[in-house]
Amino acid sequence: MNKAALDASSKARFGPLKEGQPVPLPLHSMPLVHVIRRERFSAAHRMGRPDWDQEKNSAVFGKCANPHGHGHNYVLWVTVKGQPDAETSYVVDLGVLSAVIKEHVVDQLDHRNLDIEVPWLKGKVTSTETLTMAIWDRLLGPVRALGVELHCIRVEETENNHVEYHGEL
Ligand SMILES: [Zn+2]
Repeated sequence: MNKAALDASSKARFGPLKEGQPVPLPLHSMPLVHVIRRERFSAAHRMGRPDWDQEKNSAVFGKCANPHGHGHNYVLWVTVKGQPDAETSYVVDLGVLSAVIKEHVVDQLDHRNLDIEVPWLKGKVTSTETLTMAIWDRLLGPVRALGVELHCIRVEETENNHVEYHGEL
């Protein structure tokens, strides 16, 4: 933005400038843009603690604790944040981001039993909360390697229920 345009924009936002007063930066001088990619996977699981008997698991988790498990068509939303590239205007190449999510998460979960076949979920109660936090941990490093920051992992278990995780406080 040239100086005349900057002055006009500043005037519109902050009123006329007094002589010698520094020109405020335009609000979009350091834009932080969120980019969101959706992926999907289907998987089976059962809610239950191995140290509880079936009666207690059923009392706490209801039909989600049925002994032979059940499945979900999960929807995964990955939000990353960063600044648009000066040349491409992209925050991140979504094709590359998708490939990273597939490699580190989707390929390891899709058409699997989450309680048995996924080493990084081993020994955990496979709630959507657990899944969301574990996916965050899996993607934090690989997303950072793309030059952007992970902002949110959202996992939809059903149309009515989803969980979001934004990392630790
Ligand atoms: Zn379930």
